[in-house]
Amino acid sequence: ALAVLTRASTGYFILFCREGVEPGTIVARGYEPSRVRRETDQPETRTLFEKICREPQPRALDAGDRGFPALLEPDSGPVRRVLVVPLRDGDRPLGLLKLDGASDEAFSPTQVRIVGLLSDLLSMAVKNARLHRDLARAAETDPLTGLFNRAGFVRQGKARLARAAERGDLLSLALVDLDHFKKVNDTWGHGEGDRILKETARLLTSSVREEDLVGRWGGEEIVVLFPNRSSAHASKTLDQARKDLGAALVAGQGKDSWPITFSAGVASFRSQGGAPASLSVGPGVGHVRTESRSLDLLDELVQAADKALYKAKEEGRNRVLVAGE
Ligand code: GH3
Ligand code: MG
Ligand code: MG
Repeated sequence: ALAVLTRASTGYFILFCREGVEPGTIVARGYEPSRVRRETDQPETRTLFEKICREPQPRALDAGDRGFPALLEPDSGPVRRVLVVPLRDGDRPLGLLKLDGASDEAFSPTQVRIVGLLSDLLSMAVKNARLHRDLARAAETDPLTGLFNRAGFVRQGKARLARAAERGDLLSLALVDLDHFKKVNDTWGHGEGDRILKETARLLTSSVREEDLVGRWGGEEIVVLFPNRSSAHASKTLDQARKDLGAALVAGQGKDSWPITFSAGVASFRSQGGAPASLSVGPGVGHVRTESRSLDLLDELVQAADKALYKAKEEGRNRVLVAGE
């Protein structure tokens, strides 16, 4: 609408990242997005944009103005004037709109004023979209540990499972439960319990790969999904994490303190390329399910891992067991 209003045939819209005027999203007309990025990466352009973003109103620039030569031309040909429209949330720059004019007369004062009004609406829309995104993210994050909460983990986990089922990829899941955690709370207080939960979450996250999914399943239970990894890999990774945790984290202080340990159960899954997915309960013991794929595989995986976890507890805790082994 702004382009029509101003008769600008080319231009672009960029949304900044949180940290500053680093471009995040780019929508361009008449430019290759890579070209926009090249333009905004230039120090001269960046300085110019930063300056304009501190101003409340759009600014029209003529070919002779400072900073203008740093702007690259669109693919369609020369530009005589540009209109730079800041999008702001109070004092905070959100992004900007750049419109190109082919003649020296482009962008009349009235047009600039109207664009200024419309940009306020656009800023509001961007602000609302970000707010919505932040709320959605918060609804899926556990505030104590910063991990996915159960709802977040389930949503993400189901997507990964569906992908694995479709491609016939291997995938493993582990349920981790702190040992005698109640005793930590009872002896050292809830604050110490919280600290240990946070530290455990941190250590587990740093023990797994970037693409592994870590979530707080509930209470002192943490769930980890390992896409494309066998139960042997998952169990080896967790066993190392278990040793590292025991060496690094103690409950309380002084001679009465004790090292923190956990127990874990691992289950894995591989779909049989095209055939209904199967849940393997241990190496080679997989059974092919006849039900449709829509079956809640995540539930099954969690149940199988939980069984193994229960067994790990029964056998004396501080160990990692694979379902069916
Ligand atoms: P086990 O080795 O059999 O797992 O023993 P446990 O004491 O860890 O097991 P249990 O399930 O009986 O106790 C879990 C405890 O975790 C109970 C609950 O008070 C505590 N807990 C759950 N969520 C939190 C939390 O967010 N913060 C703290 N400090 N404690 C929590
Ligand atoms: Mg426990
Ligand atoms: Mg528990």
